[in-house]
Order: sequence, then structure tokens, then C-alpha cells
Amino acid sequence: MTGPRETLVGITDVVKHFAGGGNVLKREKRKVHAVNGVTLAIRQGESFCLVGESGCGKSTLARTVIGLNAPTAGTITYRGQRIDDLTPKAMAPYRRRMQMVFQNPYASLNPRMTVQTILEEPIRFHFPRLSRAEVKAKVEEVMLSVGNDPHWGSRYPHEFSGGQRQRISIARALMVDPEFVVADEPISALDVSIQAQVLNVMMDARDQRDLTYLFITHDLSVVEHFGSRVGVMYLGTVCELAETKALFANPRHPYTQILLAAIPRLDASGFRHTRLAGEVPTAMDLPSGCVFHPRCPHANARCKAEIPALKDQPDGTAIACHGIEEGRI
Ligand code: SF4
Repeated sequence: MTGPRETLVGITDVVKHFAGGGNVLKREKRKVHAVNGVTLAIRQGESFCLVGESGCGKSTLARTVIGLNAPTAGTITYRGQRIDDLTPKAMAPYRRRMQMVFQNPYASLNPRMTVQTILEEPIRFHFPRLSRAEVKAKVEEVMLSVGNDPHWGSRYPHEFSGGQRQRISIARALMVDPEFVVADEPISALDVSIQAQVLNVMMDARDQRDLTYLFITHDLSVVEHFGSRVGVMYLGTVCELAETKALFANPRHPYTQILLAAIPRLDASGFRHTRLAGEVPTAMDLPSGCVFHPRCPHANARCKAEIPALKDQPDGTAIACHGIEEGRI
């Protein structure tokens, strides 16, 4: 890997709202404000982690970036080309370059297909002219590279452990030589004992194949291990953007500070674990102004009224917080 380079994926003012439940008796229709105006540039070669609590919109944003959801507003670009408004046919070349690894390897592999068919399907679709021998050689190469036995081909997904299945899912994504991989909580459904192993497989693939990752996780210890840059998300907005080392050394946004303090740490007095106060408000009923204000110890009247913009800071980070802008945090 030669380090972060130019923007590979551009996300500009992306909004994604869904029709919500509402109250049928009152004929009330409510919207889920899952993503609310996110702007990010994912640079080629980086492992960009999006972190936040469950329900913060990170998975919705990932699915929107890769084209599984159409954005309600805003644009997605790939190497400068707008892709969110393409027809399925025009999108096909980008679908090859952008692959996804899902959270649950038990649900994401078709139980009726053999491993060989699962792995061959994407390559036969995107490279129909390859010979049988070339496809077979590719399956072997990719299976070996993710630490799988290339002779598993005739077996079915249920015959494998969670870690093995997730390595098959990673192999399926790698079959078509992608440039950009979106991984949505790829290790959170796995046994803790094999999480590191799967993470290492993904890091090896990044280094060997010059991949760019958008890695979605709620787990900051995974970010510290895997990410080169981090976006912290809260209720559909990015509140802090920083290099991983800088974020862990000096978290600036009040939400990031509380998230980091909530990581269990072992010190002389045993495990320390600060709990984040309050519940995440629902994405159907967003708080006014700064969406974090009901849980923020520094909230003032301006915070309750005015949405803070994500602003570049002199140290290279970007933060959305009135308190930091006003110099009182
Ligand atoms: Fe807290 Fe206000 Fe900053 Fe939001 S804008 S994080 S409420 S200080």
C-alpha cells in the first residue's frame, strides 16, 4: 500500500429518509431520518471507519454509498463520476469495483449453493469470457489468500463455522478484483476468539490488493486496530472526522470523548467503564439544533436551536460543535 491518495468515493450532502411507522389511527405518517446531510471523501488506499452506536445511520449510509439504497438527497461519486443516478446497466462496472461484506455470514451466503457456485457466480457475471479453467484458478487463488482450503468447493455454507463462512464471504467479494470494499460490522456476529483472525484476513487483503475500505463498526477497539481514518456518527450526522491516532490521542467532540471513555480499560484498580448517559433519541424524532444536545454536558441555548456544521480544524480534524467553535470546550 502506498498510503492515502486521491478521493475514491465522494459523499456530498447525503440524506436518506425512510417512511416510518407513525400512528395508523391518527393517519399520521412519520419519517425515519436515518442519514441527515453527510459529506465525506474516502481516499484511495485508506481504511475509513464509520463508528457510532446502533441506530446512528452508519449502515444506512454504507448501503446508500454502494447503491443498495437510493439517497433521498445528495450525491455519491466514484473517481469523480456521479453514480447515485445511474441506470442499472450503467452502474454494472461500478458494482464490480465496489463490493460489500455483510454482518451476518449465516444469512449472506445462499444455503442452497455450494461454495464453488457462490464464488463463481460474481466472476461469471462480470467476466463472462473467462474460461472454466481461469475461473477455477481464480477461486483457488482467492480461497488460499483468505486462509480457506480451496477444496471446500463442493460443500455447503452450513458445513462451516461462522469464521469460515465470513472468510468465504470475503473471498466472494474479492473474486471480481474490487477496488473498494464496504464492510458492515463484518466481525460483530462472530465469536470473539476468531474476530481478530477475520480482521487480519481483511487487512492482508487490503495490503495485497490495494483495497480501500469503508468499515462500519460500533466497536472502537476495532477502529483502533483497523482504521486509518475515522468518522464518528451520531443520529445520522458525522460529528468528528480524524486520523485514527489523532482521534484516540485527543478526542475533541463531546460525543467522541464519551464514546472513548465508555471503552472498558484495565488499570491498577481493575476494569474502568464509563457508561454513556441516556438513550439515543429515535431517528423519527430528531432533537432540534445539535442532535447530541439532550445528552451533552456542554449544551447551551445555541446548541438547542442551531445545527452545528462540520468544520475543518487547524490540526487536520473536522468537528461539528458550537462549544468547540466558541472555545468553551
Ligand atoms: Fe454539545 Fe453543543 Fe457541541 Fe452539540 S454543539 S456537542 S450540544 S456543545
